[in-house]
Amino acid sequence: MAAPGFPAGDFLVLDGVARHYGTVAAVRDVSVRVAQGEFLGLLGPSGCGKTTTLQMIAGFETPSAGTIRLEGRDLAAIPANRRNIGLVFQSYALFPHMTVAENVAFGLEMRRIPKPERTERVRRALDLVHLSHLAGRFPRQMSGGQQQRVALARALVIEPRLLLLDEPLSNLDAKLREEMQVELREVQKRVGVTTILVTHDQNEAMALCDRVAVMQAGSIVQIDEPWRAYDAPADAFVADFLGRSNRLPVRAAKGMAQVGGHAFALPEPLAQARGEITLAIRPERLRIRAAQEAGLPGRVHSRVFLGGFWLVRVDTAAGDMMVMVQNTGTPPAAEGEAVTLDWDPHSLRRMDAAAPEPIQ
Ligand code: ATP
Repeated sequence: MAAPGFPAGDFLVLDGVARHYGTVAAVRDVSVRVAQGEFLGLLGPSGCGKTTTLQMIAGFETPSAGTIRLEGRDLAAIPANRRNIGLVFQSYALFPHMTVAENVAFGLEMRRIPKPERTERVRRALDLVHLSHLAGRFPRQMSGGQQQRVALARALVIEPRLLLLDEPLSNLDAKLREEMQVELREVQKRVGVTTILVTHDQNEAMALCDRVAVMQAGSIVQIDEPWRAYDAPADAFVADFLGRSNRLPVRAAKGMAQVGGHAFALPEPLAQARGEITLAIRPERLRIRAAQEAGLPGRVHSRVFLGGFWLVRVDTAAGDMMVMVQNTGTPPAAEGEAVTLDWDPHSLRRMDAAAPEPIQ
């Protein structure tokens, strides 16, 4: 339950947080409100300030400006070891000379929790990550995925107010990472702990998080539910960071757009645009049609089979377009074949407009 006196939507509030190292602005101006129980992702390329933001929440770094409040309390005066925050890093940082159970119990010993309660809480935490049967093993006797689950159990056993995850799955191979994503999300929802995940992997952030905050050069560019940020990116950076995005340079006039000899009606609000503008469309929103049908003419340059779908590159007068075609058991158009591309104009997003104000 949220403590009285502040809205549950304001469980963790960063307000104008910045961190400078000499002349380097690692974090410029980060403001975000995190609701109790929410799973928020800090997503962005290397060096955009994700880890520094997390370290400030954890208390390992001090903000140069701004405030961080947890349950309404300013964290500035509270040292890292008194913030009751659980941490999981990319390197599991388990104690090699301790068994799994001892590793998980460590934080409880530090907090002087009596032995019977300790044993019970360790048992519950290991149950949660499906590792009870390996309680007596040493870290070196476990796989990467198992070690990461121990690290998660160790973070959760202290019943933290907040769980901070910094690239927790990056050391795992692709298949295991996917499995662990599902598990991590389930555990987080079951425990209900408010969680912040730092990652540069957009798929991971989209799979795990209730909302993603996309960061660029020390600032948040957009905060949204993953599907919204993917569907309506605030700017070209977000559009490209969250996935593939084709560009359609068109000439717009009187509610119509022209590209490569193809004319089509623009829906509102795009219908208001005039002159040379750039539109963006996701590969799965393009459709490949027979050459004689209406649309943007092109020629298949190459196609790659990806199991569930094909990724087809089509050369057009407007440039190369990547098209995602669902696999229905028959290959799509062959390499070299003349085709046309069409799309639902509602799938188009304008990409040359001035970047909107960051959304809070
Ligand atoms: P990565 O995914 O590579 O870890 P990140 O988004 O987490 O990147 P940060 O580690 O927060 O980024 O770093 C942000 C910027 O601040 C980088 O340019 C980094 O070089 C710089 N920086 C971070 N820590 C320090 C420090 N202690 N001293 C000087 N510069 C630093």
